Amino acid sequence: MSKPEIKPIPIKIHPRLTSGRFNNVRVGMVVLTQLAFFGMPWLQWNGRQAVHFNLAEHHFLIFGISLWPQDFIYLAALLVVSALGLFLWTTLAGRLWCGYSCPQTVYTQIMIWIERAIQGDHNARRKLDASPMSVGKFAKKGATQAIMAAFSLWTGLTFVGYFTPMRELATLQMGPWDLFWTLFYGGFTWLMAGVLREKVCLHMCPYARFQGSMFDDHTLVISYDAKRGEPRGKTQAKSDAQTKGCIDCGICVQVCPTGIDIRNGLQYECIGCAACIDACDQVMDKLKSPRGLIRYTSAEALQGKPAKSGPSFHRPRIVIYSCLLAGIITLSTTALVLKKPFKVDVLRDRASLVEQSDDGLLQNRYSLRVINTTEQAQRYVVTVEGLPGIRMEKPGQVIEVNPAQTETVPVRVQVEPESAPRGSHRIHFVIRSLNDDVSIREKSSFIGE
Ligand code: SF4
Ligand code: SF4
Repeated sequence: MSKPEIKPIPIKIHPRLTSGRFNNVRVGMVVLTQLAFFGMPWLQWNGRQAVHFNLAEHHFLIFGISLWPQDFIYLAALLVVSALGLFLWTTLAGRLWCGYSCPQTVYTQIMIWIERAIQGDHNARRKLDASPMSVGKFAKKGATQAIMAAFSLWTGLTFVGYFTPMRELATLQMGPWDLFWTLFYGGFTWLMAGVLREKVCLHMCPYARFQGSMFDDHTLVISYDAKRGEPRGKTQAKSDAQTKGCIDCGICVQVCPTGIDIRNGLQYECIGCAACIDACDQVMDKLKSPRGLIRYTSAEALQGKPAKSGPSFHRPRIVIYSCLLAGIITLSTTALVLKKPFKVDVLRDRASLVEQSDDGLLQNRYSLRVINTTEQAQRYVVTVEGLPGIRMEKPGQVIEVNPAQTETVPVRVQVEPESAPRGSHRIHFVIRSLNDDVSIREKSSFIGE
């Protein structure tokens, strides 16, 4: 990849609309990602919001899976899997993430659709930009910004809906912080996708800078086949050759959202959107020449070395990334499946170390914090072991905890004085769920006289 060089920033790029198979994939990704983003907070699961990150109660709910701060490891595993997946993807096929699914690309695409719907195609938009201010221009620009702002606010509201119940937000029952984050995230969306657009990819995104280090000669990247294309010019259209070169129509440059010419070689400004492939394929179709003057290919193939047409999987990096991914996914899935349906914290009451009960037994006080991580109400019974004759003050006491709730219960543990001489003794609480017969053994200490 060529070294980043400082180029003049065009005021605004108005890419020409393109159509074709890669455009269909891009549109499909916009629809899919936005259906998921806007739809998810409305989904219900067991009568509650299916995906809800309740920061106030430190509780994440994802389709019936309850995650608490103790489960942070799963979130860490998810982040590592996402990063490794991105590295694997990039090594295999270049900037697929940037071109098809990065929120910056997706939201910029939506903003361009809004602009096109109100102001017309790329030529009309350029003309409008160059024209002096008039009532018509003001109305079109104003309407575009108003719709972009409304869409951005809706995006912000949906984002907050992952943290505050969406159905409350939709009726505008929001606190000051909900309002702040709605405006902040909405404003951020408008700024990044409506105003800055490709400049974020060109000048702000760190991933764009370092991903070149993941490429090798086998990585599939979008390239212009200079061997076939050059010398470019109108004469190519009239040549007798079946496989025609570049006719220098410039359409691949007109459709490029970052305004570059792919014929100058691989550049860091290329976000891999494949619009130039679709555009050039259409030109080649009209010339009745084979497609692929611009195509996904590897540096190895362009140098004329024998190379596979698809991605090559037999490379050390691919094997290492794949093994790491498989290992982390297997381990975290197994741990999630085997996860106990409740958690218990035992806190010894440090205010009263040891006391004597009415019937002469030594007694320590504790707080049991039981977290029910299931979607059903649960009943638990507590026993204690570790010293001869040790018992709960209320044997058989049942603790009831509502779905995905926490209950903190004060308990007392008693033992004969001769069984607990002076000092600290290791004991264990055994908390058993009466619903599914799962037990948790939690250690603590008993202070003797
Ligand atoms: S679209 Fe194809 S033919 Fe036209 S300028 Fe680009 S590479 Fe050449
Ligand atoms: S050069 Fe082609 S693939 Fe790269 S950003 Fe421009 S249109 Fe997209």
